[in-house]
Amino acid sequence: MSVTGDIGFRFENSFASSLPELCEPWQAATFPEPRLVLLNEAVAAELGVDPTRLRAAGATASLIGNPAPTGAQPVAQAYSGHQFGSFNPRLGDGRALLLGELIDVNGGRRDLHLKGSGRTPFARGGDGKAALGPMLREYVIGEAMHGLGIPTTRALAVLATGEMVQRETPLPGAVLARVAASHIRVGTFEYAARTGNPDLLRNLADYVIGRHYPELAHTEHPYLSLYAAVVDRQASLIAQWMLVGFIHGVMNTDNMTLSGESIDFGPCAFMDAYDPATVFSSIDHGGRYAYGNQPAIAQWNLARLGESLLPLIHSVPEEAVAAATEVLQSFRERYERHHAGGLRRKLGLASTDGSDRESADVLAVEFLSVLQAERLDLTLTFRSLSGALDEGTVSVLPETWLRRWRDRVLVHARSLEVAARELDAANPVYVPRNHEVDAALRAAVEGDMQPVLRLVGAVSDPFQHRPGLDRYATPAPTSFTQGFQTFCGT
Ligand code: AMP
Ligand code: MG
Repeated sequence: MSVTGDIGFRFENSFASSLPELCEPWQAATFPEPRLVLLNEAVAAELGVDPTRLRAAGATASLIGNPAPTGAQPVAQAYSGHQFGSFNPRLGDGRALLLGELIDVNGGRRDLHLKGSGRTPFARGGDGKAALGPMLREYVIGEAMHGLGIPTTRALAVLATGEMVQRETPLPGAVLARVAASHIRVGTFEYAARTGNPDLLRNLADYVIGRHYPELAHTEHPYLSLYAAVVDRQASLIAQWMLVGFIHGVMNTDNMTLSGESIDFGPCAFMDAYDPATVFSSIDHGGRYAYGNQPAIAQWNLARLGESLLPLIHSVPEEAVAAATEVLQSFRERYERHHAGGLRRKLGLASTDGSDRESADVLAVEFLSVLQAERLDLTLTFRSLSGALDEGTVSVLPETWLRRWRDRVLVHARSLEVAARELDAANPVYVPRNHEVDAALRAAVEGDMQPVLRLVGAVSDPFQHRPGLDRYATPAPTSFTQGFQTFCGT
């Protein structure tokens, strides 16, 4: 059943109605003076809503949940989570609400969700609020990931609340209206598994299959197949992060989705100089979530998902463990396959096979070793490859490597032009450079939205070089990067 909303949304509430045990019906806090700061017209269009309708006076209050738009049934979702390895049985949305689901113009079901909308029953000691800078960061990173072709949640809008939130200093408050394939996390399964209600766990798994993996519904072992499918989507996602130098920064199990989308861009950052040990987050003292650890951490999180699914996989515990372990162990091979395939594409060697593919993979490993040894900029060096096809070009890469690489590329390419075009289509020019994100968010907090708008313009179309945008294609000065730290968006 759906209802026509007052701002053009036809909400459905399948999560809340299928899984009431995982929901606390709740309302957003009342905000003194809500104001639309940034509207994502592309996302609005995908949701089939006319952006002018969302810009109209009156829509802002509705978008911020004051009161929630017609047809929405706001709920705070329950979930657990392993945070930096320690289990917290009851996290849940402490400052967020699921308004409901919308069917987008492609027929996909998308959650519309508010972050920073006030305390909920899961708020613990938190104030339930969010600051403008971190919510704009979610907007920028989501658009960048989407532009890069990486599965991600995206912002529909950022709304200023009109009140200040107290952090280290008082900061302008904001709410993010976020769109996601769903907000079901590994931590949602950890929560369901620990309620001791086997029906709830099964209902949740059935819901996820129906929503994200419908092709598995009629397989012989749907829950084991679900596990394998999630393992594969995450292997693919993490490989894509690694290929662009993305460091999530807080890969807790409550920040890993069943849909395979990237979510929760708090202390995340893009790496400039290639170094697997890179970590930016101020709270990640041990480097648990360092760039190079991300695949292993993903597998660790997926082990937690596997444990939660055991009762559904087989009634004999030993059999369940054996089957789940086999799937979990396939993560590494799946990850390597996705990663190696992506690297070949970034090196213009996608069409290789057999022994040719092996030598392509050797070239890729050597390329990464050079990046690391010379501390070269990941994004720029990959992007320079299209130019380096030309023998006369000066390159930071060793001449012996370049010669072997050119030979390989030209064996397969129809022409130099085609090869160069394919390389540029695989290697972005613009990623959200940390110093640019930092500067843009600072300006926004001071009231100047222009830098954020320019940054979003660059990173949302990252493969197309355009004049005037060079600052977004330049690494931060070393002096910036050395002291650079990111903070959780709390
Ligand atoms: P995050 O690190 O933002 O993914 O949040 C981890 C957990 O802390 C989730 O349960 C959040 O809802 C909760 N949380 C984060 N910030 C706040 C806040 N300011 N108020 C209440 N809960 C919060
Ligand atoms: Mg989170």
